[in-house]
Amino acid sequence: MKNSRDFLKERPLPHLASPLLSGIGVVHGFMTRKGGVSPSPFDSLNLGTNTEDKEENVIKNKELYERSFSFKSGTLKTLTQVHGNKVAVAGDDTDTEADAIITDQHDLPIGVLTADCVPILLCNEDKKAVGAVHAGWRGMVGGIIENTIEALKERYGAKADELTALIGPAIGPCCYEVSEDVAEQFREKLHNVIRVQDDNIFLDLPSGAFSILSKAGVRAEKIWSSGHCTSCETDLFFSYRKENGKTGRQLSFIMIKE
Ligand SMILES: [Zn+2]
Repeated sequence: MKNSRDFLKERPLPHLASPLLSGIGVVHGFMTRKGGVSPSPFDSLNLGTNTEDKEENVIKNKELYERSFSFKSGTLKTLTQVHGNKVAVAGDDTDTEADAIITDQHDLPIGVLTADCVPILLCNEDKKAVGAVHAGWRGMVGGIIENTIEALKERYGAKADELTALIGPAIGPCCYEVSEDVAEQFREKLHNVIRVQDDNIFLDLPSGAFSILSKAGVRAEKIWSSGHCTSCETDLFFSYRKENGKTGRQLSFIMIKE
């Protein structure tokens, strides 16, 4: 697994990008919270509509984002995320409640919105298809990552060992304290993602994502993790937990260009 905290690009709007997907005709990015118009506590590039931020701010932020990457206005496809395990196909399924989105269409940016949960971007290089996954603890236990890989296989002929997977900024094991009930559900699914310190239990969601991707057949050298903790770095990222639920949502997106 490649892990680096050094891939923050300031242009066109501040975002993280992985070298694993450079030069292959795919545009992607993990947006930070910077560069938008929303006031505190949604400052400033809030792209989540299910927050208390004004809708006009979110619309303006979306315009800023699309324009900055030279995308056609209104092309970004996102979801109504429900912490479930359903995968939507961009273009076919409209207004769907789902937590992952896939496509093989060109010039169609797809994305997920997060503020602590793990955003995962997937790309099948051979038969070109891409996916974006929103994976919190419920989604991970429920199989959202495996379901997305299966959907890419079935629909587009992708193969797990040809996939590149990028794990974006999420709440890290340093900060993500969970209940015994949540920990137990993870222990049943994965090993080595729970850390107990004194009487407190901490869950490592990015490592959980890595393990699930590996088990599903994605090669370790094709998995990249940003290494950023949203809760530790609220100057750069929205964190639902750290900011007591009053915060925005950052976008992670991917698009086939050629
Ligand atoms: Zn942290």
